[in-house]
Amino acid sequence: MTSALVPAPSTSAGPGRVVANSGHEPPTIDAICLDIDDTLIDFTGSARSALSVVIGSVPIDRVPVGGDDLWPAWQRVTEEHSALCVAGALDYDAMRHARTKAFLADLGRDLDDDTVAALEDRRLAQMSRAWRPFPDVVPCLDWLRAAGLRLAAVTNASGPRQRERLASLGLARFFDAVVSAGELGTAKPDPVIFHTACDRLGVTPATTAHIGDRLDHDAQGARDAGLHGIWLDRANTPAPPTPGIPVIDTLADLPALLVTEYRTPTVTSTSTLPVPRR
Ligand SMILES: [Mg+2]
Repeated sequence: MTSALVPAPSTSAGPGRVVANSGHEPPTIDAICLDIDDTLIDFTGSARSALSVVIGSVPIDRVPVGGDDLWPAWQRVTEEHSALCVAGALDYDAMRHARTKAFLADLGRDLDDDTVAALEDRRLAQMSRAWRPFPDVVPCLDWLRAAGLRLAAVTNASGPRQRERLASLGLARFFDAVVSAGELGTAKPDPVIFHTACDRLGVTPATTAHIGDRLDHDAQGARDAGLHGIWLDRANTPAPPTPGIPVIDTLADLPALLVTEYRTPTVTSTSTLPVPRR
């Protein structure tokens, strides 16, 4: 029987930014990998909210170059310390402590370890309170499962923490596998993490798509590893198209992209497709 997939209605202006794989037979997709932070979960929103707790608790002596928005400075020190964590030089809890201490030291506040630990506890508690999935996530995951696709969450963060977040937000039930840089010892865009996800799903890179909010780490990294890379650009960045990388600005457009540009597992009746939640 011929497949009869119908894309879920989109709440956006439509997949107008999609760069089509036109002119050749659509590739078959058996599985989808999804990044977690800023793809499924509003990580930046919760982390910014939590950082304000730290800043509000400690008078800052030195405003960083670039103005009084401390988020870029936090991101920079986070990237430096996350690399040490992935390399195995620090465990996750030690990394968090060292990062907060280094961040405050850069701002002219050299605090003792007990004070840093108390601040970090407050920051984490605020982050946990602020975790939210984006509103387009559950309808999209519902559709992907109903379409017969196997799903993996692929993250550059700590595995236990990400499993905890997925479970607390009711998202763990959608995934056949969770692959984390913290557990694997290597991070996106290293092909190893993408290939590990494919192995755990029992699929090949050629029949797997990976979608995430980072063009370099997610979409290009997946493409370079032999998967189909898709960029989720929620900010609708004014950037020229990247050859071979479809772009969508909401997960509500992912079903339409999969139906029009790829082949997905057979669904024999349109009645099996869910009506997206609003
Ligand atoms: Mg991300």
